[in-house]
Amino acid sequence: MLRFEHVSKRYPDGTVAVDDLDLEVREGELVTLVGPSGCGKTTTMRMVNRLEEPTSGRILLEGKDVATWDPVKLRRRMGYVIQQVGLFPHRTVLDNTATVPHLLGWRRADARRRAAELLELVGLDPKVYGGRYPEQLSGGQRQRVGVARALAADPPVLLMDEPFGAVDPVVRERLQSEFLRLQAEVRKTVLFVTHDMEEAVRLGDRIAVYGQGRIEQFDTPAAVLGAP
Ligand code: ADP
Ligand code: ADP
Repeated sequence: MLRFEHVSKRYPDGTVAVDDLDLEVREGELVTLVGPSGCGKTTTMRMVNRLEEPTSGRILLEGKDVATWDPVKLRRRMGYVIQQVGLFPHRTVLDNTATVPHLLGWRRADARRRAAELLELVGLDPKVYGGRYPEQLSGGQRQRVGVARALAADPPVLLMDEPFGAVDPVVRERLQSEFLRLQAEVRKTVLFVTHDMEEAVRLGDRIAVYGQGRIEQFDTPAAVLGAP
């Protein structure tokens, strides 16, 4: 589904963020990228949706080099959730979520119905929260809206960059279990970045353990935990 072939990224200042990376994510698989800050996880992610271009190598989505995809079409195939999701402050939760289907040409009423389903899916009752504004939500709830919005175009791929990194540990655990339940239902191909090994092990079907710009180990949680 998603495949990195000898991908390297050197920034203009000479920093080599990603060094000859090979990685394959199967359809419906959740792969966590875990490692300390600065080891190249975010750069890896941003090359998938072409917010960055690799210096060499290529990334294939459904067998096709992402560099040859039309960027707009490409981003419709990928939901993206970051640590602090940016919601439109002057739109309600329901409208924030309905924006994507509406942009994709859904009629307004259909887009809103779809948005309500998505909010339900991420554990926010649309009747209670749909009419609120982002500032009236807790951090955890805002991240849930971010996930709902990322799912709005029904993309086959989800890119998640520390989506639960900015909430307290109790809320994070709840978001993790909700996300596992949701993933069991929607079966997206997921790349999930975290610096927290516990989170990586809990969520990942397979885990890519990053060192400096490289993958040091790529295996199942059991194998990674059992490693000497
Ligand atoms: P991580 O997500 O694992 O924290 P990043 O991919 O953000 O790592 O960064 C990898 C390396 O690339 C770090 O050394 C970082 O300082 C560097 N880096 C990231 N973005 C840029 C940039 N735009 N220009 C120069 N160096 C960058
Ligand atoms: P979560 O576990 O999702 O992070 P919290 O425990 O932080 O939720 O919040 C609990 C309740 O308080 C939620 O129902 C949320 O809607 C409400 N709440 C949190 N922050 C605000 C706010 N700034 N204004 C109004 N309600 C809020």
